[in-house]
Amino acid sequence: MSTRGFVGIGTPDHWEARYNHWDSYPTALGTDVWHTAQQFLQQDGHLQSFAQRLLGFTNWRQMATDGLCEYCGQRTGQPHSINGRIAFLDRDHLPASRSDLVRQLRAQAKKFGRNGTSILTDAAAQWAIIENLHHTGYPDPTALYHQHDDPTSAAITPGTVDWLFMEWGYILDPDRLALHVYKGCVATPISYEQLFIRPDGQTDRYTQHRYTGTLTHTLALTEPEPDWDSLTREAHTHAEAMEALWAGHPDDEQLRPLQALPPIQIIDQRAG
Ligand SMILES: [Zn+2]
Repeated sequence: MSTRGFVGIGTPDHWEARYNHWDSYPTALGTDVWHTAQQFLQQDGHLQSFAQRLLGFTNWRQMATDGLCEYCGQRTGQPHSINGRIAFLDRDHLPASRSDLVRQLRAQAKKFGRNGTSILTDAAAQWAIIENLHHTGYPDPTALYHQHDDPTSAAITPGTVDWLFMEWGYILDPDRLALHVYKGCVATPISYEQLFIRPDGQTDRYTQHRYTGTLTHTLALTEPEPDWDSLTREAHTHAEAMEALWAGHPDDEQLRPLQALPPIQIIDQRAG
């Protein structure tokens, strides 16, 4: 299940984070962040290189693979725009030569009942990639068939985070040696109007609520590891309490950034 979240560096007021797509709840991502931070602390005595590495990537998962791209072997952002020829390559059964490749493609075409007219063209395109794999271990070492995201464009900040979708957030505070835990998807009484303009010019209006995140825990990294199950329960309780509190106090100071957002969102579905 995709439980979205983020991991970042900073203080509760100023932070920069990277996205995590799966299993972002405390018992999974929280534990992972805690242990990774502890490893860096034991090794360096601080979190500077942790911060540098994380912010050099576009995604939390790259921390585990050292940001190594499986297509080119470079330590850069998350690869995207992968050419289909690379994606479907079976690395465990690489043909040793070009004629091997042609034989394999012919056998495949026969098996799936396709005609073999494009086999030589396919072989020419695929052989370049297979040669790369033989020589360098990577199918696309010069990044001809894929691109990387720019780490700076992957930044999630307090100003850009979409709390409607982000369920959990973890911010490491290098100065305090602390881990701030956030629970997202918290409903607020601040509402806005969504105006849909349909392709035929008809309009629909909906009232939507704004969502926010709330800081539920600040954990000292010098203390023993928390019980992540109880932390999860506490975080839910805290988020529910904030929802109840805000329902009666829409003018609360913490909701000011949401109040400052535009009261209407226009989604124009007409062409052009
Ligand atoms: Zn790459």
